[in-house]
Amino acid sequence: MNHDQARYGDDDRYESLLSEKDTTTVEVDGKSPLPDDLTRDSLELPGLSEPELSRHYTRLSQMNWSVETGPYPLGSCTMKYNPSFTEDVAADPNGSVHPDRSEESVQGTLELLYGLQDYLARIGGMDAVTLQPPAGAAGEFTGIMIAKACHEARGDPRSEVIVPASAHGTNFASAAMAGYDVVELPSGEDGRVDLDALEAAVSEETAALMLTNPNTVGLFERDIAEIADIVHDAGGLLYYDGANLNALLGRARPGDMGFDVMHYNVHKTFATPHGGGGPGAGPVGVTEELAEFLPRPHVRERDGRYELYDPERSIGKVHGYQGNWLVLVKAYAYIARLGDSGLKDTSAKAVLNANYLAERIDYDIPYSPFHHEFAATAGERDAADVAKGMLDYGVHPPTTKWPEFVPEAMLTEPTEAESKASLDDLANAFDAAMADSEEELEAAPSKTTARRIDQADAARNPQLSWRALGEEE
Ligand SMILES: *Cc1c(COP(=O)(O)O)cnc(C)c1O
Repeated sequence: MNHDQARYGDDDRYESLLSEKDTTTVEVDGKSPLPDDLTRDSLELPGLSEPELSRHYTRLSQMNWSVETGPYPLGSCTMKYNPSFTEDVAADPNGSVHPDRSEESVQGTLELLYGLQDYLARIGGMDAVTLQPPAGAAGEFTGIMIAKACHEARGDPRSEVIVPASAHGTNFASAAMAGYDVVELPSGEDGRVDLDALEAAVSEETAALMLTNPNTVGLFERDIAEIADIVHDAGGLLYYDGANLNALLGRARPGDMGFDVMHYNVHKTFATPHGGGGPGAGPVGVTEELAEFLPRPHVRERDGRYELYDPERSIGKVHGYQGNWLVLVKAYAYIARLGDSGLKDTSAKAVLNANYLAERIDYDIPYSPFHHEFAATAGERDAADVAKGMLDYGVHPPTTKWPEFVPEAMLTEPTEAESKASLDDLANAFDAAMADSEEELEAAPSKTTARRIDQADAARNPQLSWRALGEEE
């Protein structure tokens, strides 16, 4: 008697299901066409009923923190609550079209993609947008490849990309992957770009400056017009890292500040789920001059019909088909539902919430005035210990120890989604953890499913499958 029979008895229905299942291997002359080392005779799966399976995954989800169970104030990555209506829209069966279908038969799909290109272009103040890159980091790489193609087309290839020290690690990686030498720009005294340092860093080798605005500690680069002039006068392009666009929605546009190319993190700014490596989307917006280099194919409208075409000097493909389609559907739904006034309200509340929370907690905040996020310092305490302590007070802690120029940083971004009551809970947890003794903090967390874990090891050697865990045991 095999495992499945033991569970289900001799019910004929299951017998027939099982034998159907057994016929899925393709046999050619009694032999599988697959190489021997890729085939197996049996597959050991845990024999579980649906309720058991459901309980297993529900229990696992309850062992974890998520934005569905409490505030998730991670600085840098906007981790906002993802309203579930976007999931309903994405689950519409009409959305499940095969990407190889003819253009004529997917006009609605193309219309939505075209509409999202247009929304994003208007929000960013850009002339054209590609939806293909599957993440912010992929958008950075795409944007820098577009800048490179532009310099090459001008007959002026360049070798350097300037990145502020406080930038997200992916900026350095994207520039290096595109073949550039990375020039690191130290932060000025006030936490912003130091214009003298920038003047000294630019040269005829400068392909681009990559900038986040507001920056990592939430400060708006007030000298952005001057920064743009310095970079443009040197023949470089200005790249906008859109991860902090949540602070500006409906109020200010990178295109108007002089940026030539930017990415949008739709899974941050536009509330599509995010984390665990994807899927996300990192559309890229460019000025008219750069539009001919966009990835192919691109969606355009002609006489009321939507079609795909290859931009003249396209850098090629950066993802299959149009990118992560269902993530794009959710972003479209979110923008369409909020509209102009809703988006403007989002940035107002994001900034208000960060400022309210900062005012409520008893921490030093070295850099201000900040917008949607702030870097508090744990001072004499170890920021990571304080964060572990906060877990015991029932909230998720902020990002710790980054950026490095803020000692014992606790980089906090509550987002617009939190109510005053949940901000108060968060503030109480900040202060309660700070008031705990050294011993208590070192032993924290004690009320979570997993206690102190080896974070580096967990990141480097994740065990993501049942089989890997079994082998370990
Ligand atoms: C999240 C983030 C990125 C990278 O975006 P992903 O979508 O995670 O690849 C880049 N820059 C900043 C400032 C970010 O916060």
